Amino acid sequence: MSRTKLNDLDPDFKNRVASQPGGEGIKACFACKACTAACPVEAVDKRYDPRKIIRMALLGMKSEVLGSDFIWLCSSCYGCSEVCPQNVRFTEVMFAIKNLAVAEACVPPGLTVQKELLKRHGRLYEVTEFENDKRAKQGLPPITEHPEDYAALLG
Ligand code: SF4
Ligand code: SF4
Repeated sequence: MSRTKLNDLDPDFKNRVASQPGGEGIKACFACKACTAACPVEAVDKRYDPRKIIRMALLGMKSEVLGSDFIWLCSSCYGCSEVCPQNVRFTEVMFAIKNLAVAEACVPPGLTVQKELLKRHGRLYEVTEFENDKRAKQGLPPITEHPEDYAALLG
């Protein structure tokens, strides 16, 4: 992994996170690591460490945080928020960070594909005649798609 140079740091990044809805608590973190211990994602993938993400954001490592795949690993389970003694509400902080990443077009290709599928089908897969036949056998009404409504919602 390449080292971050001092000049690459963005000292205002923490303020940008804190100014986003949900990001307000980030500066209250005192790095106790309770969130990390409670995180089910960290338990299976050590690249994802809530305390470390907060430290990186507070230090101004904007490119590393917004450009990393690991910010998309959070499952939004709120386990970290429940144990935090500082009420940082890290789950919400992650939403703020992800919103900033989207604003800066730092989105993994897989999420872009998912968005296109949602715009087209209103879900992550197309419901075809095959699925609707199976629904009919169960006495369920067919599913019809309304791409114009989905596109209006998703932009
Ligand atoms: S539990 Fe709260 S205070 Fe402790 S490291 Fe996590 S966010 Fe920071
Ligand atoms: S909300 Fe995200 S960061 Fe918090 S415990 Fe769950 S997976 Fe980990």
